[in-house]
Amino acid sequence: MARDAADRRVRIQRPQPGGESTAVKPAPLAYADPTTVQEALDLLAAEGDGAKVLAGGQSLLPLLSMRLATPGTLVDINRLPGLDRIEAGPDGVRVGALVRHAGLLGSADAAAVQPLLARATAHVAHPAIRNRGTTVGSIVHADPSGEMTAVLALTGGHVTVATPAGHSTICCPDLFLGPLETSVHGPAVVLDAFFPALPARSGTAFTEVARRRGDYAVCGAAVLVTVDDDLRITAARAAYLSVGPVPAVHDLTDAVGGKPVDGADWAAAGALARSRVEPDDDLHASADYRRLLVATLTERALARAGEEAARRAEGAA
Ligand SMILES: Cc1cc2nc3c(=O)[nH]c(=O)nc-3n(C[C@H](O)[C@H](O)[C@H](O)COP(=O)(O)OP(=O)(O)OC[C@H]3O[C@@H](n4cnc5c(N)ncnc54)[C@H](O)[C@@H]3O)c2cc1C
Repeated sequence: MARDAADRRVRIQRPQPGGESTAVKPAPLAYADPTTVQEALDLLAAEGDGAKVLAGGQSLLPLLSMRLATPGTLVDINRLPGLDRIEAGPDGVRVGALVRHAGLLGSADAAAVQPLLARATAHVAHPAIRNRGTTVGSIVHADPSGEMTAVLALTGGHVTVATPAGHSTICCPDLFLGPLETSVHGPAVVLDAFFPALPARSGTAFTEVARRRGDYAVCGAAVLVTVDDDLRITAARAAYLSVGPVPAVHDLTDAVGGKPVDGADWAAAGALARSRVEPDDDLHASADYRRLLVATLTERALARAGEEAARRAEGAA
């Protein structure tokens, strides 16, 4: 890769010799804003572990400012072409790496194919952060309190990753390894996230409890209910935020499967979920309180999703 200073396509600002700048809080770092994926990968490969991709910066910049992350180089992907698209088709919704939370929230096409996207995105942070932060960035950041990681897990989605070896997809169970840790390693740019379409005769719901609207959730649930032509439940699943290191999906069909969706014992499904999760205590809530929230939120969300599944099944009949 050409790294000629005259090449305006890749601009790098190196830290000035002679010590740290006191003008900004992050440790001194280099910055590059490539204009092709290949240039970005070349930069990431050349800089090794010391380089980080910068997307919306809404998670990374606070980490830099607190010096919890001290990359030698930021590779800003905001000038890469073609990554700001939402493609909604019959199979699902592909969300490009530069689609902001606000863009996904406002996409009627995406909501028509997978309503859970808008429902969950509405709970992500505040408008200013949603205007800049990206859906893909929040997935790669892998915060256990993130809404979109839970949605990707519940819907069985995947991400497309560009590396020097080519493009590959990583499906959800293999993607999240732990808090703030994914299987996207080395020189890699995640190009998009794919969320499968809402299955037939199905409904979804998203709910969470946060101290203030826009704060990270103390606990949240994304759920999906599917019914058959007789409006009997064939599947009930849930994924949670802030109750474990990664967004695990819990199959709750055992509690309600085969029952008519109208009047189903959603509390039993909530109790089953409560028995399966293993939340931690932290500054925001005790593990016991989180278990209680899991039971209550699951019951409420499944009831809403069940009503939607019934409406959609009746509409299709
Ligand atoms: C006050 C506040 C409240 C917030 N509340 C919430 C909330 O309630 N729910 C929630 O989910 N989030 C919340 N966030 C985080 C927000 O959603 C971020 O936008 C998101 O987590 C990261 O997206 P980003 O585009 O800003 O990524 P960045 O901050 O730029 O990057 C985050 C990480 O992902 C990596 N990365 C990003 N994009 C790519 C890519 N395409 N390929 C490879 N690596 C990549 C970066 O290297 C970095 O490690 C909050 C943030 C703030 C500041």
